[in-house]
Amino acid sequence: MLSRLLIVLLLTGISVVSTTSHADGGELRAGAFAMDVTPLKFPISMNGNMQDAPAKRAADPLHARCLVLDDGKTRVAFVVVDNCVIRRELMDDAKQRANKLTGIPTDRMLISSTHAHSCPTVTGAFQSEPIVEYVEFLTERIAAGIKQANDNLAPARIAWGVGRDETQVFNRRWLLKEPSSESNPFGLIDQARMNPGYNNPKVTKSVGPVDPEVSFLSVQSPDGQPRAFLANYSLHYVGGTGGDLSADYFGAFAERIGQLLKADNSGKTPFVGLMSNGTSGDVNNVNFGLTMPPKYEPFEKLKLVANSVAMAAVAAHEKAEYRSTTSIAMRETEIELKVRKPSADDIAAAKARIEKAGSFPYKTMPDIYARETLLLAEYPDTVKLKLQAIRIGELGIVAIPAEVFTEIGLEIKRRSPLKPTFTIALANGWNGYLPTPQQHELAGYETWRARSSYLEAGASPKIVETVLKLLNEVASER
Ligand SMILES: [Zn+2]
Repeated sequence: MLSRLLIVLLLTGISVVSTTSHADGGELRAGAFAMDVTPLKFPISMNGNMQDAPAKRAADPLHARCLVLDDGKTRVAFVVVDNCVIRRELMDDAKQRANKLTGIPTDRMLISSTHAHSCPTVTGAFQSEPIVEYVEFLTERIAAGIKQANDNLAPARIAWGVGRDETQVFNRRWLLKEPSSESNPFGLIDQARMNPGYNNPKVTKSVGPVDPEVSFLSVQSPDGQPRAFLANYSLHYVGGTGGDLSADYFGAFAERIGQLLKADNSGKTPFVGLMSNGTSGDVNNVNFGLTMPPKYEPFEKLKLVANSVAMAAVAAHEKAEYRSTTSIAMRETEIELKVRKPSADDIAAAKARIEKAGSFPYKTMPDIYARETLLLAEYPDTVKLKLQAIRIGELGIVAIPAEVFTEIGLEIKRRSPLKPTFTIALANGWNGYLPTPQQHELAGYETWRARSSYLEAGASPKIVETVLKLLNEVASER
C-alpha cells in the first residue's frame, strides 16, 4: 500500500515536472517585415513642434516595422511605426484590418510609434492637424505589414538581454533656483524647466533620473542567421533632420544593428531591426551640463547616437543564449482615467485671448495653449487607455499609450516579476505625457494642460499598478 502510494506520488511529481517543461517550450516561429510608409505626396504636414513644419521630401524611408512571434499556442504581433504620435483610433483600425488578413486577435497586437519628430501628421498636436489621405495610407500599410510578417513565419530561435549606453540619455527637466512663471503659458508657477539651455544660471540640476538600459529581443533562423532585432531605449528622439522627413535615430539604429550583426539581406525575408521608444517622456539627447553646445551637421548626431546604442546592444547580445522553444503569454486591459479639463473661467479666458490673437497659426505660447484649452474643453470627462503586458519566456514587455517619464519605467522594471522587463511607450494610442504626481507638482512643459498633457495628475500610480497586475498574470500563466 505504502509503496503504491509512493509510486503514485512519484508519478504525479514526474508528470508535474514534464507538464511544466512542456508549457515552457512550444516550438517558436517568427516572421518579420519592414513595410515602407513613406508618403507619396509632398509637401506634407510634420508635427512635433509648436508650429507645423511641412516637409518637402523624405531624407530616408519611413517604415512600419513588424514582428510576429508564435509559440504554437499564442501568436503576437509587434509593430514599431516611424511617426511622432499615433492616436488610438488609427491603431485600432489597423489592428482590425490586420486581424481580417491574418486571424491574429487584435488584443495580441502591440503597435507603437517611435516618436521621431520628423514624420507626417496623423494625430493633432499643437498646430499640426492630421493629413486624412496619409492616415488612410498608414492604416492600410500597417495592416499589410503585419500580414507580410505573418506570411513570413518560419521556425526560429530567440534570445533577449540588456545592454547599457549611459552616453546618450539626459534628463531634460531642470530645477529652477527660484520658482518662476516666466515661460509658463498660463502665467502659473513652474519649479522645473524643460531644456533650460547651456550655462543657464537659473537652474541647478535635473529633477529626474535616466535609464541607460538598451533592452532587446533577438530572432534568428535555426541556423543562426539574424532575422529581427527588437530593441528598446528610453530616449525621446534625436532630431537634426534639416526639415526633411526622417525616421531619426530609430531608423538609423534599425539599419546599423543589421550591419553590426552581419545580417544577410539577400534572401526572401530581409532582416528587420526595430527600435521602440522606452520611457523617455523627460529624457532627451542634449547634455545641458556641458558649457558649450556641440555642433553637428544634419543627420550627423542621430547617426552617432544610433551607432552608440547599437554597439551597446551588440555587446550585450554577445552573451545572449538562444532557444528554439519558448512560451508566450499576453494580456490586455483598459483603465479609465480622468481628464484635466479646463474650468469655465479657463475657457472664458482662452476665448478672450483667441479673439485678440489674430489668424491661425498662432505665434505666442499663451495663444497656442489658449487654443489647446478650447480643444480640451470638448474632451470627455474620462478617457480609456489600453494597457498590455507580454511574456516571452522570462522576458516581460509592457505597453503604455503615453510619453512615460523615465522614473515610472524604472519602477516597473524594479517591481516586475519578470526579469528583464521593458516598457514600450507611445503604444496602442497616445494620451500625452505621463509624469508622476510629484513631477506634476514641479510643473513645467510636460505638465502644461494641452492635448499633449491632459491625464489626471494621479494617472501614473494607477497605470503602474495595472500593468504590474498584468505582468503578474502573464508571469503565472505557464
Ligand atoms: Zn514628446
